[in-house]
Amino acid sequence: MAKYTVTFSCGHTATVELFGKETDRQRKIEWFGRECKCKACQERETVEFRTHCNTVLADKGYKFNFNGTEKQVAYAEDIMGCALINIFNRANKAAYDSECWDACARFFMAIVTRVLKIDMNSAKSVIDSKIQIEAKSKAAIDTMSKLITSKGTAEAMKMFDEQTAKVEVL
Ligand SMILES: [Zn+2]
Repeated sequence: MAKYTVTFSCGHTATVELFGKETDRQRKIEWFGRECKCKACQERETVEFRTHCNTVLADKGYKFNFNGTEKQVAYAEDIMGCALINIFNRANKAAYDSECWDACARFFMAIVTRVLKIDMNSAKSVIDSKIQIEAKSKAAIDTMSKLITSKGTAEAMKMFDEQTAKVEVL
């Protein structure tokens, strides 16, 4: 074990303790400089990302009112926020029609509430189904991406809206 002063990818330096073989330590130091930001920058970015999420979700009309402990509510908001943000961020990445991704988000929410039967009033219900929620968000994004490529935006959106209507009567 030894202490090293390393420079992170954000340009900040810090003293870290490293273990193991010398070659592994050097590899780790290079990795810090290449792709790891310092702790302060990581924490700041987490706060910035959360603010960004809240702004986008509020703008899109998604507001959650979970019951639970303060910790449970914050965790449930993160889970649902990330799942939805991943959908909306896809619209920004490729110059896709954002209405199309609104349709994708509506479908995702219908699946979460009607198929997974998650109680949107309960933080615990969301936390207990974290893995399924993430999987459904990813699946909805993949399906929408493929549909846009093969059918075009308007047709993809129509197909998603039809599926949402089917799920909503469950
Ligand atoms: Zn930094």
